[in-house]
Amino acid sequence: ATGSDENDVVIIGGGPGGYVAAIKAAQLGLKTTCIEKRGALGGTCLNVGCIPSKALLHSSHMYHEAKNSFAHHGIKVSSVEVDVPAMLAQKDKAVGNLTKGIEGLFKKNKVNYVKGYGKFLSPSEVSVDTIDGGNTTVKGKHIIVATGSDVKSLPGITIDEERIVSSTGALSLKEVPKKLIVIGAGYIGLEMGSVWGRLGSEVIVVEFAADIVPSMDGEVRKQFQRSLEKQKMKFMLKTKVVSVDTTGSGVKLTIEPAAGGEQTTLEADVVLVSAGRVPFTAGLQLDKIGVETDKGGRILVNERFATNVPGVYAIGDVIPGPMLAHKAEEDGVACVEYLAGKEGHVDYDLVPGVVYTHPEVASVGKTEEQVKALGVEYRVGKFPLLANSRAKAIDDAEGLVKIIAEKESDKILGVHIMAPNAGELIHEAALALQYGASSEDIARTCHAHPTMSEALKEAAMATYDKPIHI
Ligand code: FAD
Repeated sequence: ATGSDENDVVIIGGGPGGYVAAIKAAQLGLKTTCIEKRGALGGTCLNVGCIPSKALLHSSHMYHEAKNSFAHHGIKVSSVEVDVPAMLAQKDKAVGNLTKGIEGLFKKNKVNYVKGYGKFLSPSEVSVDTIDGGNTTVKGKHIIVATGSDVKSLPGITIDEERIVSSTGALSLKEVPKKLIVIGAGYIGLEMGSVWGRLGSEVIVVEFAADIVPSMDGEVRKQFQRSLEKQKMKFMLKTKVVSVDTTGSGVKLTIEPAAGGEQTTLEADVVLVSAGRVPFTAGLQLDKIGVETDKGGRILVNERFATNVPGVYAIGDVIPGPMLAHKAEEDGVACVEYLAGKEGHVDYDLVPGVVYTHPEVASVGKTEEQVKALGVEYRVGKFPLLANSRAKAIDDAEGLVKIIAEKESDKILGVHIMAPNAGELIHEAALALQYGASSEDIARTCHAHPTMSEALKEAAMATYDKPIHI
């Protein structure tokens, strides 16, 4: 019973934005249908993004530890080998279980799920070419576009997902390439570069800009880059890729300095193109109903996620803002709360960002560069992981916590953590910023010993006073 009976909300796209919006809408008592073309829920994030990349990051980290660190901890292993197909199978199993889990949540919450490609017939009607070859029309009072994003292609480079791969291909390489060149030093490139580097590839990252991960706090970025270099990742910054061609046995890149100059070539077995992502609206027929987009193809919305066309809304990667799964989820919840007549809220200044390398790098709030640019007087408190007892105990003490607070009020403006589990540690800081806490509030909160969270407490002490352990 998909067809013509009218819904309160129809959601096109079953990624973190769309599926979360669908469940929340149903929980708020709205009759809800979610349309997804992939045949599996969870979107980019679950199928070819966050989840499979974290599965491979974990597996490759285990291998790397077994090979390089176990002996140091008094564990003898005679031989350690990678079984790539088995590693990929474990990743696929994790993904499969999670996508089915969302289907279960749809059933539990009575979200109607239509598998197929949706396109607008009018602002309240979506025609769906179903994956079983049929067609149905789904009607709704409100329609939310949650069609997400796709890999950004570069001019002159054809992705074949075997030798010239996007992140999707890099999640399924059949064997460890001897040499992997990553184009783009954003978090996706560095994560995938880490995976294959740990498994034995020689990894070179080519980046047009002068810095890796441009959104990162500069001081933390420097330490992060050094850490990756220690892990044998090589960087060619301020370098432009002119062309990428497959050769008999591999791939040849032609590069030149970003500022112009002599061209040179590089050879590799596999090239990963990770130069960003672009909003995905192909085939939706947005132009048919007149939905406005910006120059980059993102759908323009107001603070209530409404487009210029009454009844049509958009959330997640397809609208401006950080292209992150948790941001898409927040959009989805707030959007349907508005539709249900409630208030919704997303604080875009407090979306945490995490790079899941080892160590991880996580941040929330402003970087020191941003605070400086605002002309705010500030103090910085830092604490190195080398002085944290837990990090020392487990011999994983590379990194630091950096807190930036307003000088006069001590209110925290930004927190940046490089640590083995920074992606978990950051949420204490996110909560602190959400509540407008001062660094003294964190410093005077009792933290369990021995934990890496104590490094956050000590950095907070260092912000307005002195830390104890350094
Ligand atoms: P998507 O997840 O892209 O979902 C959109 C869905 O809509 C897709 O399933 C698509 O098939 C469907 N769709 C599109 N058009 C139609 C149509 N016309 N009809 C029906 N269905 C349609 N983010 C993080 O926060 N943390 C991470 O660790 C992280 N790691 C990543 C790693 C990689 C390799 C990649 C590529 C991305 C990663 N991301 C991560 C980003 C994250 O995946 C996205 O921000 C997130 O998926 C956006 O959610 P969304 O719901 O807006 O869109």
